[in-house]
Amino acid sequence: MRGPLDVVVIGGGQAGLAAGYHLRRLGLDFAILDVQPTPGGAWQHTWDSLHLFSPAAFSSLPGRLMAPKPGETYPAAAHVVGYLADYEQRYELPVHRPVRVAGVHHDSEFLRVETDSGTWLARAVISATGTWSRPFVPAVPGRMSFQGAQLHTVEYRSPHDFAGQRVIVVGGGNSGAQIAADLVYDAELTWVTLREPRYLADDIDGRALFDHATARRRALDEGRTDTGGVASLGDIVAVPPVRAARNAGLLKAQPMFDRITPTGTAWADGMTAEADAIIWCTGFRPALSHLAPLSLRGPRGHIPTTGTQAIGEPRLHLLGYGDWTGPASATLIGVGRPAREAARAISALLR
Ligand code: FAD
Repeated sequence: MRGPLDVVVIGGGQAGLAAGYHLRRLGLDFAILDVQPTPGGAWQHTWDSLHLFSPAAFSSLPGRLMAPKPGETYPAAAHVVGYLADYEQRYELPVHRPVRVAGVHHDSEFLRVETDSGTWLARAVISATGTWSRPFVPAVPGRMSFQGAQLHTVEYRSPHDFAGQRVIVVGGGNSGAQIAADLVYDAELTWVTLREPRYLADDIDGRALFDHATARRRALDEGRTDTGGVASLGDIVAVPPVRAARNAGLLKAQPMFDRITPTGTAWADGMTAEADAIIWCTGFRPALSHLAPLSLRGPRGHIPTTGTQAIGEPRLHLLGYGDWTGPASATLIGVGRPAREAARAISALLR
């Protein structure tokens, strides 16, 4: 048994590290538990060509600017991994890995964190486990009958794995558009989206999205009309490779198919597309199964929160995941503010 500590942070990706930064500043006694053997959270597992949709200076965690990489306006995922590894070291964040948290339980005045390498007691818990480990694939008739390969965004690495193949990419968000643009020169691509792709204006990148999220936050804080989330601007950031493929007329989207056959996909009007592989770029769900023992789940699988604080358990904060834990909280630049709020709220609670 380890502890009791003031705080156990579950997850050592960007959200967990931002929490650690603020907990350290407030002088709290904490540990960060992360299942990955190496630093970098989900950024370690993205496809080879993925670049951020914001310049380095607009992709930084609290306290330390991400250094730009010469010649790269939008840093590659590998650059983010290096930045997060350095961030951990610079602030001497106590990250324990690999440690998988199996469950968080009530235990008299503490929360008991059960892991695959022992038990930790904490006065408060910050859950920052992200979404990458819970890929979502919709139920489509015939899906199990398909004889080709089926994979999700999390398994896609490189167009070279699909050279010359017939590939159906499903999804009209950033992952779908970027993977379609990545594949289109090497594979025979069919891109399928639920609705007509909605590109943000070409001059909008992560900077403008963050400004929009901040303005929304301010409006909500001041009781003014909700300006709408960044989704109101569009679904796809026109990053350079997406813009190039779209402008070359290579990104033509088909509407969503109605069923999957053993050899491809079929639409109600009789159209079919044969395929060697289907890549599902259909999103993620929050990784919250370790919190199931607390019985806090609300609608849509989320845990209801006020800001980052769980309504049913004030000693628990949720960080990252999506807008429901704070505007832009699932981005590098956006997680700093909710991390600060969570650390301050815990500090006040423990006092
Ligand atoms: P993660 O990075 O997933 O970290 C969570 C950590 O918790 C992981 O190490 C995980 O293994 C660990 N964990 C999970 N469960 C447990 C458990 N039970 N016990 C212990 N550890 C556990 N954001 C930007 O700011 N700019 C961008 O350009 C950008 N592009 C993106 C492109 C794509 C394709 C995607 C999917 C996201 C992008 N994002 C971008 C969004 C966001 O920055 C990432 O999703 C980010 O990785 C979320 O960080 P996190 O710390 O919340 O989660």
